[in-house]
Amino acid sequence: METLLGSSTFPAETGSLPEHGRAPDTVLEELRELCRDDHDYAGGTVFNSICSAPLDIARRVFAQHLDANMGDNRVFPSLRRAEADLSAMFGELLGHPGAVGVTTSGGTEANLLVVLAAVRRYHDRHGGSGPARIVLPESAHFSFDKIVGMLPVEPVYAPLDDRLRVRPEELTRLVTADTALVVATAGTSEAGAVDDVPAVAEHTAALGVPLHVDAATGGFLIPFARELGYDLPPFAFDVPGVTSVALDPHKYGGVPIPSGHLLLRDRADAELLRTASHYRGTFDHHGLLGTRPGAAVLAAWAVLRTLGRSGYRELVKEVFTRRDLLLGMLRDAGFTTAMEPQLTVVTVRHPEPARLVDALERRGFIASVARRYGLLRLVVHWHQTAEQLRGLVDAMAAADGP
Ligand code: PLP
Repeated sequence: METLLGSSTFPAETGSLPEHGRAPDTVLEELRELCRDDHDYAGGTVFNSICSAPLDIARRVFAQHLDANMGDNRVFPSLRRAEADLSAMFGELLGHPGAVGVTTSGGTEANLLVVLAAVRRYHDRHGGSGPARIVLPESAHFSFDKIVGMLPVEPVYAPLDDRLRVRPEELTRLVTADTALVVATAGTSEAGAVDDVPAVAEHTAALGVPLHVDAATGGFLIPFARELGYDLPPFAFDVPGVTSVALDPHKYGGVPIPSGHLLLRDRADAELLRTASHYRGTFDHHGLLGTRPGAAVLAAWAVLRTLGRSGYRELVKEVFTRRDLLLGMLRDAGFTTAMEPQLTVVTVRHPEPARLVDALERRGFIASVARRYGLLRLVVHWHQTAEQLRGLVDAMAAADGP
């Protein structure tokens, strides 16, 4: 279908609002039909997703608190307490127990808030409403493509090295004392690349330029992998100069969608984001969204307390072990990985990655192509077993054949 937006990916409209309601069992039957093509994470076919099935405790908490609204702290005072507890837990995990935290709907909102704060700070300092310069890696998540389309910013992109990490010396060359914000990524979604945050921070801190770390993907992996002895750089508040971190409990945190968190080193940055509500007794908002599911916040609270640090360490150990298993299987089957993965995304060189991904999809497997790099991309997650990884590699070998 051609639309104003170009070739539409929206499905043709088939639903209609029935004049008379139907029995719940009938509707559930219809719903089963509607969802017939959906994949089940447990089924061993999903190899493109950084999200996974939430823990059982999260499902229970979510279902019990479906009506909880983060936008109404008078009806649901528990949510503010849960948000504060989460901020304290995340702050501790990220090396700054006193960090100020805002729950968000995933990494996109967290990144948006940071850029908004940077623009406001820039305009406060320099006056006017002109574009604020922000420096990002070429690997920045596409949430930033949306953000630069919405806010008055001038994005400048820094090039990458051969493992798809930003080159700190190239990035720092683009940063001046007038730069409103620098972004680094701790775990890109395309390749799991972890930028050298300490090298970037050394320069930004010297200039007094804020440094945001987008750890939406790596936030629940890197701290525990480091505790397990994996060679990964520090990326959070233990690095002087890091001023904010985004992390997503709905990715490797075991928490249901939508769960995101923005952590700020400095309370003054939270002030830049404050919007007073028009109602007496309702607390100021610091996020973008108003009404939003408190169930995800309570579920995050419950999951963190259920797993504890040792529970996450175990999960991370398992997922890194499976990643290494997959790497071995791929090499044995004759595939060439593009680089040593830092986290859980395995990239494979292939002359026609899109053709291979389509062929896999016909066999029921979902993989993806990192389009910017022309690489086949496989995400290892804890919903996959060793046998399922074997199934994927066998399917790749078969799909790649004549
Ligand atoms: N940043 C990074 C590095 C990501 O990997 C993602 C999602 O994959 C996001 C931001 C956006 O997060 P969300 O999809 O939760 O908005």
